[in-house]
Amino acid sequence: MVQIEADVAIVAAGASGLAASVAAAQLGLKVVTLEKSSTTGGAANMGMGPLGIESRLTRAKQFQPTQDQAFEVFMNYVHWQADGRLVREHLNKSGETISWLESLGVVFSEPASYFPGSFPTWHIVQPESGHPGPTAAATMLRIMTQRAKELGVKLMLQTPATRLVKDGNRITGVIAETQSGDEIQVNAKAVIVATGGFGDNPKMIKKHTGFDWGRDLHTFRIPGLEGDGMRMAWEAGAMSTPMRMELSFGVADPMALGLEWLPLFHQPHLMLNLQGERFINEAEGNDSFKGNAIALQKDRVCFFVFDETIKNEMKSYLDFINLVIQTPNVANIDEMIQKAVDSKYPHLFVANSAEDLAAQTGMDPVGLGTQLAEYNGFCEHGYDEVFIKPQRYLRPVKQAPYYALQLYPAGYGSLGGIKINYKTEVLDKEWSPIPGLYASGTDACNIYGDTYVFQLPGNTMGFAITTGRMAAEHAAAYIKSLG
Ligand SMILES: Cc1cc2nc3c(=O)[nH]c(=O)nc-3n(C[C@H](O)[C@H](O)[C@H](O)COP(=O)(O)OP(=O)(O)OC[C@H]3O[C@@H](n4cnc5c(N)ncnc54)[C@H](O)[C@@H]3O)c2cc1C
Repeated sequence: MVQIEADVAIVAAGASGLAASVAAAQLGLKVVTLEKSSTTGGAANMGMGPLGIESRLTRAKQFQPTQDQAFEVFMNYVHWQADGRLVREHLNKSGETISWLESLGVVFSEPASYFPGSFPTWHIVQPESGHPGPTAAATMLRIMTQRAKELGVKLMLQTPATRLVKDGNRITGVIAETQSGDEIQVNAKAVIVATGGFGDNPKMIKKHTGFDWGRDLHTFRIPGLEGDGMRMAWEAGAMSTPMRMELSFGVADPMALGLEWLPLFHQPHLMLNLQGERFINEAEGNDSFKGNAIALQKDRVCFFVFDETIKNEMKSYLDFINLVIQTPNVANIDEMIQKAVDSKYPHLFVANSAEDLAAQTGMDPVGLGTQLAEYNGFCEHGYDEVFIKPQRYLRPVKQAPYYALQLYPAGYGSLGGIKINYKTEVLDKEWSPIPGLYASGTDACNIYGDTYVFQLPGNTMGFAITTGRMAAEHAAAYIKSLG
């Protein structure tokens, strides 16, 4: 087997692995980075940017929150179901992470608040061309890749790591498979695992979270995120953590429906379950809360319902409660609906009456009739007695045709799997660090309790980059201690 020598081997070149690679090389270490895919960046290429608390950009504008406030908000939100020391390290170092990224050449647009009740922590990358928006972070990943190469990192694409090498209880390297199917061994004093979780592995999703991907869960599946790093770490004796999906809500097969629908189903119109009943204040701005609520309904599904009057109103006015798209606009909603109907998109229903809507969607007709009567009464009186939706969002649903779009728990990828401490050292089942083994990013991101912390946006990418840097720094100190 071909042997390659390194100080540190880094498993994956996504957001976290690239941060670890650049940071380790800056510390003078000889770095070999193994990446399964033919490109770098992982899921982060789809995103917009990381969190930064008290970053240079937020300080200049005296923006809140401070590190202390952010920590309190975070820990209260998760009910202390997280390692407080790890959270503190992540948040306190996040502002410096933004400066570090800027020093590599990344440019950020001004942080602002994007969700109701959220803090301006999201540092959205200014992409090479066009407006900051979806996929903007790809520019940052490209810059990080370039810097890693310039610093001498040996970056091996299409070379998935398969298992860790152990000498006694110490990790001494990693084995990977080359494109030709041969095995190679990277001998290293420390290994950092950052393979991005199991968002592309329905079996693991089912086993560890209970969701049935494609039926009651429609999260993004970024190819190659199959839980490899977690499996390797567990095989090497790592403790596991609770695992969850980074939940929000959305439609099945969003690309088939078209991304122009995104602002539409975020409007605060009726959301009904299979009993035909409301189950949430539809103006709730926290997408993760909505995802949680949908996941509690029968078959984990609900319907976003509007009528002809509301449809026509949306042509000229969208109440933008929750999105980052700069100019939400569904003025062409008639064409959007026609296109979905023509293409036989199976999750959109157009009905001539409430009874017809119930028959097409499977909603209970009696429940639907009762609910519409109650809701329309609330609209008339200007007060939602059940969920206290603000009056300005109370619009009656009574003018055929009726429209319904099926919504599911959806969102990003997985969260958690490998137990680390606040130094990103991987712990064994006795809570002792496994010498030489570090994990960062999604594989080790078990800090949100049962619900993603929507109030501090940019959190998962921020955690990935900051913990990648931390892993490099702690691995460097460990290597130095070996003499
Ligand atoms: C559509 C979308 C938008 C998002 N937007 C944001 C946002 O704006 N802000 C935010 O904070 N978060 C966002 N996220 C989440 C964010 O992208 C992740 O938190 C982040 O990418 C995690 O970094 P990571 O390095 O752990 O994993 P990734 O960036 O996914 O990288 C994992 C890497 O591991 C590689 N890999 C897998 N197995 C192996 C193996 N065996 N050997 C070698 N390599 C392997 C993969 O190919 C991949 O390159 C978004 C996610 C999605 C899907």
